[in-house]
Amino acid sequence: MSALSDICPVCGMKTAPEVAAIEYHKMFFHFCSEQCRKMFLDHPALYSGKIGKEQSKILKRRTMSLAEPVDDEIRKRIISSLMKMMGVQEVTAEKGKVSVTYDLRQVTEGRIEEVLAEVGTKLGGGWLDRLRRGWVHESEETELDNLAAPPAPKRNRPPPGV
Ligand SMILES: [Zn+2]
Repeated sequence: MSALSDICPVCGMKTAPEVAAIEYHKMFFHFCSEQCRKMFLDHPALYSGKIGKEQSKILKRRTMSLAEPVDDEIRKRIISSLMKMMGVQEVTAEKGKVSVTYDLRQVTEGRIEEVLAEVGTKLGGGWLDRLRRGWVHESEETELDNLAAPPAPKRNRPPPGV
């Protein structure tokens, strides 16, 4: 039998004891990884009410421009680091571009960019690249917030008897 504390509320995988728990609304949540813990901290309402329930994926495919073309060694490093992230399904890196398919419920482009920076990859610095990234970050946060608190249903008709 598995207790709720065994299941990561973000990705549904087994929790890891070394990742610190978070208390939210007088409940304790446990996580499989530091990445899922951060996603929870950003959007606790989205993940706290649905533990253990099957959630449909929100697949995104984004292509990020790099500041300079990558060689083979960096290409391999990019692919292996990104594939280790929760929710990342597919990564291709060639010339000056990295394309990633991922589940927005588990990972955002912002987190993917952080990992790219950690392995020493510089993203394209043109104003159009920055504009695109800013727009993606904002729209992904909005999408997750809307999932956590969907707009209230409209009531068009008065209740019966009025
Ligand atoms: Zn997880």
